Amino acid sequence: INDFKDKHVLVLGLAKSGLAAARLLHKLGAHVTVNDMLPLEENESAQELEAMGLSVVCGSHPPELLDGAEYIVKNPGIPYSNTLLAKALEMQIPIVTEVELAYLISEADMIGITGSNGKTTTTTLIHEMLLSDRKKSLIAGNIGTVACEVAEKADKDSIIVTELSSFQLMGTETFRPKIALMLNLFDAHLDYHGTREEYASAKSRIYANQQNSDFAVVNADDAEVVKAAAAGNGEKIFFSVKKELESGAYIKDGAVWFNDEKIIDVKEIVLPGRHNLENILAAVCAVKLSGAKTEAIRRVLTSFKGVKHRLQFIRTINGVKYYNDSKATNILATSKALQAFDAPTVLLAGGLDRGNEFDELIPFLGNVKTLITFGQTAPKLERIAADAGIEEVKRVDNVEQAAYAAFSLSQEGDIVLLSPACASWDQYKTFEQRGDMFENAVHKLK
Ligand code: ADP
Repeated sequence: INDFKDKHVLVLGLAKSGLAAARLLHKLGAHVTVNDMLPLEENESAQELEAMGLSVVCGSHPPELLDGAEYIVKNPGIPYSNTLLAKALEMQIPIVTEVELAYLISEADMIGITGSNGKTTTTTLIHEMLLSDRKKSLIAGNIGTVACEVAEKADKDSIIVTELSSFQLMGTETFRPKIALMLNLFDAHLDYHGTREEYASAKSRIYANQQNSDFAVVNADDAEVVKAAAAGNGEKIFFSVKKELESGAYIKDGAVWFNDEKIIDVKEIVLPGRHNLENILAAVCAVKLSGAKTEAIRRVLTSFKGVKHRLQFIRTINGVKYYNDSKATNILATSKALQAFDAPTVLLAGGLDRGNEFDELIPFLGNVKTLITFGQTAPKLERIAADAGIEEVKRVDNVEQAAYAAFSLSQEGDIVLLSPACASWDQYKTFEQRGDMFENAVHKLK
């Protein structure tokens, strides 16, 4: 455990993670200086920290900030090309990320989850399964609290389950989770990381510092993940939805297996979709390696309906099942959702126009009998509907109207799926707001 007492630490960039790191370091007795570009008058976080007695520099990055600094904690959003950071690297001042800080101050074991898609779902599954086994699981990341705040509350019997983006992993030097898990690797965030190699190398940090007493959970079906895992010395535990394995997690005779043990029949699992089966196999590995009982895993898989807005089951009305997949803000996510069901589907889609076309969606529209569109991309989606042979298309103004239209156009046995394939910002603040409005409308249907 690293002791930051009396150390001089510069926190660069406030946002959520910087604010949490600054508060925590101050509590641990460090001499903290915070630096943020937003001027103090407009900067609530900086004002709060100043009132707590931290030293605060806002509006610019003066080079004197580095004088006497023993550590720098940086916000993941600040690139290493930033002049102050470049100088700090030159001066060999250790640069610590918020997640690394969490790791350095805590005795608890950490389970880290990364990947391009499925992080939140898998993180939540692992947390729920550990809780179901009465373990002291604490969840950190996107849907929970910042990791360093969680780490402060943890004791040595806790397990910190944390979702990690490539931004959070980039630049970690010593971070070493007990169990590291990478789900998959697609081309995402290339605008920030520059090349796919850099993106992959950021993600592979999750495995890089592991030793042979640690576990590296690896998707055997994804060659990029297998390659990334070669970076570390953790014991490799594989999972696969495609082939039976001799050990690890896999599918055999319509059931989920771990090593030689049958865990559950796939048909007993509530969460739909083959992509979720990948997330489940990954979670089973992590939870089994943590020593949880199979019964705890089964309890979660027979009841867990999905994380909010992610192919989340809402309710059944007149034999029609309604799902909220508002998190599907791109074509890939919507194609995964469409592949999750084998039933006539009423698809509700549309939103912010990013200039792309939707032809890549056509191969996945086979089950879609009705398309209900809204938002800026409505005309573009209607154009592919004709090519995909969808008989019925209706345009509405928003997701509430879409819910009402779906109600009148669906029949027993259908699936109604909000999976927009677009970001929400043309009409809604966030995908969460879009999903909530849809859900409320669905709850009003009779
Ligand atoms: P993340 O936290 O990585 O964004 P989520 O668990 O929130 O991932 O899922 C977001 C969307 O990504 C889901 O709605 C689904 O469409 C897609 N998805 C989830 N898991 C996977 C997976 N294993 N492979 C591919 N796509 C996935």
